[in-house]
Amino acid sequence: MKGRFRKFISYYKPYKKIFILDMVCAMLAAGVTLVFPMITRYITGVILVAEPIELGKIYQLGLLMLVLVVIEFFCNFYVTYQGHVMGTYMERDIRNELFEHYQKLSFSFYDEQKTGQLMSRITNDIFSLTELYHHGPEDIVISLIKFVGAFIILSSIHLKLTLIVFAFIPVMGGFAYYYNKKMKKAYKRNKQRIGDINARIEDNLSGIRVVKSFANESQEMDKFQVENMNFVDSKRNSYLYMAKYHSGLGVFTSMITIAVIFFGALFISQEAITTPDLIAFVLYIANLIEPVKKLINFTEQFQEGATGFERFMEILEVQPDIQDKANAVELKDVQGHVCFEDVAFRYNDKSEYVLKHIQLDVQPGEYIALVGSSGVGKTTICSLLPRFYEVSEGRIMIDGQDIRDVKLASLRQNIGIVQQDVYLFAGTIMDNIRYGKFNATDEEVIEAAKKANAHEFIMALPEGYDTDCGQRGVKLSGGQKQRLSIARVFLKNPPILIFDEATSALDNESEHIVQESLESLAAHRTTFVIAHRLSTIKNAKRICVLTSKGIEEEGTHEELLAKQGQYAYLYNMQFKEN
Ligand code: ADP
Ligand code: MG
Repeated sequence: MKGRFRKFISYYKPYKKIFILDMVCAMLAAGVTLVFPMITRYITGVILVAEPIELGKIYQLGLLMLVLVVIEFFCNFYVTYQGHVMGTYMERDIRNELFEHYQKLSFSFYDEQKTGQLMSRITNDIFSLTELYHHGPEDIVISLIKFVGAFIILSSIHLKLTLIVFAFIPVMGGFAYYYNKKMKKAYKRNKQRIGDINARIEDNLSGIRVVKSFANESQEMDKFQVENMNFVDSKRNSYLYMAKYHSGLGVFTSMITIAVIFFGALFISQEAITTPDLIAFVLYIANLIEPVKKLINFTEQFQEGATGFERFMEILEVQPDIQDKANAVELKDVQGHVCFEDVAFRYNDKSEYVLKHIQLDVQPGEYIALVGSSGVGKTTICSLLPRFYEVSEGRIMIDGQDIRDVKLASLRQNIGIVQQDVYLFAGTIMDNIRYGKFNATDEEVIEAAKKANAHEFIMALPEGYDTDCGQRGVKLSGGQKQRLSIARVFLKNPPILIFDEATSALDNESEHIVQESLESLAAHRTTFVIAHRLSTIKNAKRICVLTSKGIEEEGTHEELLAKQGQYAYLYNMQFKEN
């Protein structure tokens, strides 16, 4: 807890100067508002009753007030402008830190978390935090100065009247606290309702083709109207509290004024207070209401910001499962000798082992196929090699080096993966291929596209390499996207490759051309191929059959068929299907 508090404060550090100046300005501005009623009191009580009236003094005081107004203006300007800018900078720092941390976290973390949640942590949660960062200290300082200052000044003028005024404060505070809490709760509900509406729209639009094919538009509309109406109800509720809060506080202000005038008149009749003093009292009332409102609002803001900070720290304190060792070395000049030594793996300590006794020695440049029934762990084996997950037992060696001893980035630099799903980022085709090597020239990108059989279809697009891939790359066919992902790997040029069901989602024609690209990519590289259709790996020199007991059979297609074992079983199953 103490550590977290220190962390919370640490974000002010780069902005120490701005922060201090901000605080000074806030204090000055609060001070000025305290001085004004005093000057009014002095003018009405001393100068105006003197004979003759000294106009010179009034001019002097007028000048002083002008100077104070200028000071107040600059202070308020600085506090509002620089205070908010500082808050935004801090927001940027926090968001950068969280985004950077997101990049470091391991696959196991993302297996458990929902993307929407992680998004809201980096946006909404942080926003509530920055509000606290720049409004918090400022509000407290201003409010306390105004409140305590008013109390001291008023009680020095007339203690009894001061006590009468302050008797209202706890009641007003209680009222404000109660409704402020209600209001904040209602705002929170509004946010949730908006979230529900967004979720409903997203769900609907993502599935719009299904909606239309079932002609369920009106049912969808009904569901949407419910959400939309819930939002109205929630908003109405929050406006109700808002109206009560503001009009209630108005009543308190008026009541305090009435009390001051009523009791003030009484005290004047007893000659216990003068008229100018009474005027000062009335003028100070505004100085009391405002800080009480602000302080109460602050308690809520603090809770919200603290929750945001907790949620932020919860993520920041998650350590990536997989990190570089202190003495990790660069993996260089890779030949591509890959060796699984009695590897066992389970996704977490509580679950069953997915892989057991995996023994596999793959020579540099070898082309090896992994087959096995669905869910047996083929993809899992392949995600152990780039250390997306850590082996539970045994070890994996590349060129005789345990992959846990090398730098993660260098390991992954040396492995190229082509999967069934291709993710294209927002941007052009050129950008997307260049993802394989950020500093590649246009010529290199085009060369890679040619090798991947992608150049021709790209050139046939109206904007060629500048074509925008659009959201999720919807404008390209599966085979085309797959060839872009192969071009990426060509550009990356790694010595080790993994093709995980790279052609499984394609029709026969696209499969053929993608298969060709894959084969040219695989030349002279150590390649692991997982394919659903066994016909595509028939020509592999070595096929390994994975079962729950490990790699049970190994050999060429013909050898394995002759064995009449697991492979023959899988192959015959498919043969019958087709
Ligand atoms: P294959 O690729 O051979 O079809 P997988 O390697 O994808 O099989 O999955 C092997 C087993 O591991 C399956 O039982 C699957 O449910 C489980 N599994 C896969 N990914 C995860 C994960 N991220 N977390 C937990 N279990 C997983
Ligand atoms: Mg798989």
